[in-house]
Amino acid sequence: MIESFKQLEEIAATRDLADVFLEADEQEHAVPAEQIVEALRKRRAVMRDCVERGKSSSGESMGRLVGHEAQLLNRAFQEGRTFLDPLTVKAELYALSVMGENARMGVIVAAPTAGAGGVVPGMLLALEEERNVDPETTVRALVVAGGIGSIIALSANISGAAGGCQNEVGVASSMGAAGVAYMMGGNTRQSIHAAALALKNTLGLVCDPVGGLVEVPCVKRNALFAVHGLTAAQLALAGVESVIPMDEIVEAMVRIGRSLPRGLRETAEGGLATTETGTAIAKRLKEEANRRRAEKAAERERAAQERKEHVTQGD
Ligand code: SF4
Repeated sequence: MIESFKQLEEIAATRDLADVFLEADEQEHAVPAEQIVEALRKRRAVMRDCVERGKSSSGESMGRLVGHEAQLLNRAFQEGRTFLDPLTVKAELYALSVMGENARMGVIVAAPTAGAGGVVPGMLLALEEERNVDPETTVRALVVAGGIGSIIALSANISGAAGGCQNEVGVASSMGAAGVAYMMGGNTRQSIHAAALALKNTLGLVCDPVGGLVEVPCVKRNALFAVHGLTAAQLALAGVESVIPMDEIVEAMVRIGRSLPRGLRETAEGGLATTETGTAIAKRLKEEANRRRAEKAAERERAAQERKEHVTQGD
């Protein structure tokens, strides 16, 4: 088992990072490398489908707070109204597409969680398309992203409830940054530094979902942090390194997560969730849920009454 990024750098200094992760998995779980690669081919295909569905859909989410963002950006892009370069716009677009699907309860790939599931496909699929990367290389970059996430997960609980959004979107951005560095031909050290630069600049990011739903700020946050991850990979590929080593950044993330107040760890009792607008939305969602419950109860009562009358008439 690869237990730290220091160890990873030693083992994989001059080797292909995906091969190193596949070998380690094979040894630890006795799963042949080809089987893992095949599973990730399927994940890539699900990510691709999800992007295709999501970018043209304007269907509303469960809480009706999000749903049309990808369609809006897609339209602006198609009509030449975007000002950023196509790689950046597509990374945002694909992340929004996946998260729109997630908010509509569609099928997505958790990477590493559903709430942060747009970041990795946003970065990797946009890069694949814009730089004509072989899809097999994207699959291997998913191996790298997953390997980075699994080393982080040895020390940290990957959930907003445990340590805030740094543990979800921050980790996704870190995984994606390493994957992008790999796809662009970077070596192991550059991939680790890409991961480190991405993660350390998300430290302290709180989890404060409005109404307790994975909609606001989650959907747009995925788009923004997909770009953040691309930037981290770009810096690392140019030779920029994190002064603080990746293992120490993960330790800092865990410490920060523990010191975050409960209200900023997915409870919807702080941050954006308790702004004036956030509170009003939560109130509306609660009233709607109560109304639905009352309607269902009345329906059940009507059905029971009908059954009773039926039995009485039979007598
Ligand atoms: S704000 Fe919370 S629920 Fe939303 S993506 Fe971040 S960790 Fe997940």
